[in-house]
Amino acid sequence: MDYKKLADLLFPNALTREEVEARYPKRNLKENEAVTRFAPSPTGFVHIGNFMSCLIDYVLAKTTNGIFYLRNEDTDKAREIETAMEKIMEVLKHYQILPDEYQYKEELHGNYGPYIQSEREEIYHAFIKDLILKGRAYPCFCTKEELNEMREVQEINKERIGYFGSYAKCRELSYEEVEEKIKAGIPYVIRFKSMGNYNKRFIFHDLVRGDMELPENDQDAVIMKSDNPLPTYHFAHVVDDYLMGTTHVVRGEEWLSSVPLHIELFASIGATPPKYIHNPLIIKKDGENVRKISKRKDPEASMSYYEELGYPAYSVIEALMTLINSNYEEWHTENPEKSFLEFPFSPSKMATSGAFFDLEKLNNISKEYFAKLSAEEIYEGLFTYTEKYDPEFHEIIKKYKEYTISLLNIERNTEKPRKDIAVYSDIKKLFWYMYDEYFYQDNPYKDVEEKYPMDGIKEYFEECYNLEDTEEDWFNHLKEFASKYKYTASRKEYKENPEAYLGTIAKFCEIIRVMITTSNMSPNLYDLLKLLGKERIKKRLEIFIKIFQ
Ligand code: GLU
Repeated sequence: MDYKKLADLLFPNALTREEVEARYPKRNLKENEAVTRFAPSPTGFVHIGNFMSCLIDYVLAKTTNGIFYLRNEDTDKAREIETAMEKIMEVLKHYQILPDEYQYKEELHGNYGPYIQSEREEIYHAFIKDLILKGRAYPCFCTKEELNEMREVQEINKERIGYFGSYAKCRELSYEEVEEKIKAGIPYVIRFKSMGNYNKRFIFHDLVRGDMELPENDQDAVIMKSDNPLPTYHFAHVVDDYLMGTTHVVRGEEWLSSVPLHIELFASIGATPPKYIHNPLIIKKDGENVRKISKRKDPEASMSYYEELGYPAYSVIEALMTLINSNYEEWHTENPEKSFLEFPFSPSKMATSGAFFDLEKLNNISKEYFAKLSAEEIYEGLFTYTEKYDPEFHEIIKKYKEYTISLLNIERNTEKPRKDIAVYSDIKKLFWYMYDEYFYQDNPYKDVEEKYPMDGIKEYFEECYNLEDTEEDWFNHLKEFASKYKYTASRKEYKENPEAYLGTIAKFCEIIRVMITTSNMSPNLYDLLKLLGKERIKKRLEIFIKIFQ
């Protein structure tokens, strides 16, 4: 076969590899400086597993003073969603994991672009032509039917499935045969010509799993499909990681089985492969079972879930860091003020068989985080969150800014602050009744089942309640007052003689609490009453009494 003739027939106008490579000088890196990339396919969905890879990419680059870049792997145009890149950029911005090099809309940062694969066609063609010239790639005209037949034969013979060895029949085509088929307009793919031997093994070093013995690749993988001038992932990422100077590839363990092919592809273009970190799958408990987090079944598989509920970026990153390295939690407890970027990340401390993700844990991390924030800081976060996800509440908190901050301040500056906020959307659930706009939207007490006695309630507010009281005085006065209405301060007395009382003081407070909040659980009642003020209390009281009397 005359490879030169074949290469010119298939890619008459392609650039040479030299011409392409001249555009991509080697990066000037010091030892240990890592170049990493987040290389999502624009499917409109950022999977938590991919985001975990991205976080590791970021940590590796930032902790070594290296480069973290974003590459849009859009070679599969059929799967592409138009707004996908916007979503990806939003996620990166939300978590402040910003790439040093990227291309987005009109912006281009970095000298190794284009960073969008569909704009790199001529680069890939130069490399494919070069492989053809070297006899390492060839056109394959096998039809779907022929390939299916081949697979059936392999299944019957209990052989490995694929296009390899004697099954790779288009390897043998002469130049004349190829030319004739092409002239006749028969569609073809370009296949890589493997030189590997499946019975031979080689040592592959994964930074997570250590040395692994893998069989050599012998599959003639498709590197360019018939209906798409762009290469497949296998080939495109090899060319890109080579030209863009990637030092570490961080990706999910589902790619492990493709490693032999990728290693051979790197060798075929004369490049040293990057170092690899194959992340464990993220798994979760499902009843008694443990299973992979699934895009189909689990909303928490998508990064948009966390943003929509209003998890602070900090909480999600912390939860993922504990997932990435088993010793992160201990380190964080010892160094509570330090950023995750100061943590000595080590791929060898990653799980090799499933990383267990627990929403409960994320919630706890988040509650601890909120407990440390000031009311003003939470207000700022809530403001941003509601602007996007709850515009109605946004308008309300905008109108009542100081009031909202005071609400958020209840039981905050104490030794044991409340830990009932895990996500920004919890705040409305916690305090909706403190906004008349929500309180009077419907019958506020429609879900109250208990039949409360009204004795002394109206009188308490008319005769006793004083907005100016300190908390201590307020409670003493309330106790004293309620005792006139057969409420006792002694639980013991009540238990001994329940008939003689309407209840304990706690019950009296519960009635007021329900009247104010519609629930028998709420933050500090004294603070809530004070914030509502006499007029608003009076209005609620009237409705409450009307309903319950
Ligand atoms: N585009 C591939 C994906 O989204 C990236 C895999 C890799 O990081 O190399 O799965």
